[in-house]
Amino acid sequence: MDLYTYILIWVCIFGLCLGSFYNVVILRSLSGESIVFPPSKCPKCNHKLYFWHNIPVLSYILLRGKCYFCKEKISIQYPIIELATMILFGLSFIKFGISYKTLFVLFWLSCLLIMTVTDIKEKLVDCNIAIAMGVSGIIYAWLINGWHGVLHSVLGMIAGILIMELVARSGFLIAKTRAMGEADTYVAGALGAMFGIFSITKVLLCSLIASAIFIIPVFLFNRFKQGDRLTCLLFIVFAFFTVLFKLCWQNYFMLILLVLSGIWLTYSVLKGMNNENNRNYLPYVPALSAAALYFIFV
Ligand SMILES: [Zn+2]
Repeated sequence: MDLYTYILIWVCIFGLCLGSFYNVVILRSLSGESIVFPPSKCPKCNHKLYFWHNIPVLSYILLRGKCYFCKEKISIQYPIIELATMILFGLSFIKFGISYKTLFVLFWLSCLLIMTVTDIKEKLVDCNIAIAMGVSGIIYAWLINGWHGVLHSVLGMIAGILIMELVARSGFLIAKTRAMGEADTYVAGALGAMFGIFSITKVLLCSLIASAIFIIPVFLFNRFKQGDRLTCLLFIVFAFFTVLFKLCWQNYFMLILLVLSGIWLTYSVLKGMNNENNRNYLPYVPALSAAALYFIFV
């Protein structure tokens, strides 16, 4: 076995173990407990776990997905996060090799993973994680390009915050509520610091596409169930123009139709938020994370 494969295997094992730790971070950032102090215990029966209950993935298989003491089902989230962390770590090493860029990428991917899961689960995001990601983005820019890099990074951060706040507050015009949570602004700022002023708009545009792929279908399905056919129809119109513009007619006429149907759709979606009794924001951190992932690797 050559050295490269050897290191890759250790990076993957490291990813598995950290993934296991991230599960604890996710669980306790939702419950507000300390990350370090209480030893790992079953969330149901509070029994302290033995060391062999904490082995990533393997323990889940050995215990057949049940608590050793009370037989309560263990969430499939645990092995999934562990495997996801392992895969992300492995891919980062393959892509960036032995460099300090890899270390930064591992840190960013970890932050994004934790925030994405808490956003999907409870629509709760720890803004401190986003702040840490932003600061590390500025440090990275300084290492790569010196003070010139810091300038780009800080400008990117400001742009990210401004654009996201503008989008979020546009909700007030129509629905008297923010279109997105405050955490999304923190994350957009962090991404601005990571990717710099010249890339942040592309990253945010990319997140829009990601949200169309991941979030909007679920959102539309709920709308359809509630009897709001118009928003669904508008979405189909918008998607139709997008495909046409991309595939055949890349001209201004199609672009205008695309933008108009997009504005109309956004208006309809935001207006719909006003009608609902339980106003909830779209979870947007997953889309931002997907865009960041795309820009890091592709
Ligand atoms: Zn238990």
